[in-house]
Amino acid sequence: MSDPVTELVKTHLKQLRLPAMARELERLSREAAASDMNYGQFLLRLAEAELAARATNALESRIKNAAFPVVKDFDTFDFAAMPTLSKPKILELALCEWIDQKFNCCFIGNTGTGKTHLATGLGLAACRRGLRVRFFTAAALVSKLEQAQKQYTLDKFLGQLDRAELLICDELGYVSFSRNGVELLFRLLTDRYERSSVLITSNLAFGDWAQVFQGERMTAALLDRMTHRCHIIEMNGESYRFRESMKAKKGRKAE
Ligand code: ADP
Ligand code: MG
Repeated sequence: MSDPVTELVKTHLKQLRLPAMARELERLSREAAASDMNYGQFLLRLAEAELAARATNALESRIKNAAFPVVKDFDTFDFAAMPTLSKPKILELALCEWIDQKFNCCFIGNTGTGKTHLATGLGLAACRRGLRVRFFTAAALVSKLEQAQKQYTLDKFLGQLDRAELLICDELGYVSFSRNGVELLFRLLTDRYERSSVLITSNLAFGDWAQVFQGERMTAALLDRMTHRCHIIEMNGESYRFRESMKAKKGRKAE
């Protein structure tokens, strides 16, 4: 139990909503007493502790709000396994300047090549830069849009999406949508044009997007906007998952 003054300061700090300062008070007081820290330096350290805790909490809540399916970062991505992919290009995208410039990004390629992994890595990079991110599969996004429309909350949902500086729409092309669903998605994506960024991953080459967007006219209009200011990353190669499981099988046979 510390002295009554320290306890009172802690209570006041908590009341002032400075919990990290309250938490660190005793440790830093001891450190200050043991070293030749002056009052100013002591207060500075204490304030820094609060700022650091706030930054960590804010990042955690941005990552939580983004709703990534799995939190995967670049540290677990093996660039050597995808030699056609430019690592410098991905690391440049991770600086998020494209999001500041309201550019889009498309990862196009067959399944298992790491599109979702990289989209998540870029999403995390954006969260770390203090940007708001929302991650959806295309199917979930369309279903949420349709549900919101039915419940007369579409404007509210669109407003929430609008606040995200980066919208990630994963797996476009795996599932086809109703006419209404397509129109809602089209509206959402075209509304963001030059205002905020979209990252799309798809197994379909642009030429096949008409399969999703039912009809050439809507597809052409969407592609025109989506790809105007866009980084396009082709991810064609052998599936990483498939290769890993083949390796594991070979390993088991060799045993
Ligand atoms: P896609 O979205 O293109 O279908 P994913 O990103 O879901 O592919 O990748 C499939 C699985 O393989 C995931 O678990 C992912 O983390 C892993 N993976 C894919 N490519 C790589 C890579 N180059 N290095 C490490 N893991 C990878
Ligand atoms: Mg994927």
